[in-house]
Amino acid sequence: MMENCLFCKIIAGEISSEKVYEDDTIFAFLDINPASKGHTLVAPKKHFSRFTDMDAENVASLFEAARKITAALENALLAEGSNIGINDGEVAGQEIPHVHVHVIPRRKGDGGRGIKSIVWTEPDTNNLKEIAEKLRRAL
Ligand code: 5GP
Ligand code: ZN
Repeated sequence: MMENCLFCKIIAGEISSEKVYEDDTIFAFLDINPASKGHTLVAPKKHFSRFTDMDAENVASLFEAARKITAALENALLAEGSNIGINDGEVAGQEIPHVHVHVIPRRKGDGGRGIKSIVWTEPDTNNLKEIAEKLRRAL
């Protein structure tokens, strides 16, 4: 548990939340300021500030829990689809520095858009080969 971390406190039960799922490694609860009905946050119990800090096992359990919760949300709260994602880093809109996956149920006619509506910087598309090469070298 990380001191002064809001989500660590929620996971420990020191701050109340509307819990929807819990297992050995995962805690999921409703977002207090939802983007749509049922918006759920899925977090590892262990404190990781950034997605890139996580180990493979915790990533696997985080995304398996996100998958299960997405299916349950779509069934129980009548959604036709969902946006599933992480704001990783302050520049990407992360407000709480404890990794969490947003599961945002989507319904026909809700007026929302897809993941590229988060950011669209019109980058140059003539150098995709170079970019891919740089990335391959970094992996
Ligand atoms: P982030 O911007 O870090 O990806 O998302 C943080 C999310 O946590 C926001 O969607 C915000 O509404 C939610 N949130 C912030 N404080 C609380 C809280 O005290 N309880 C709950 N349930 N959600 C919170
Ligand atoms: Zn934490």
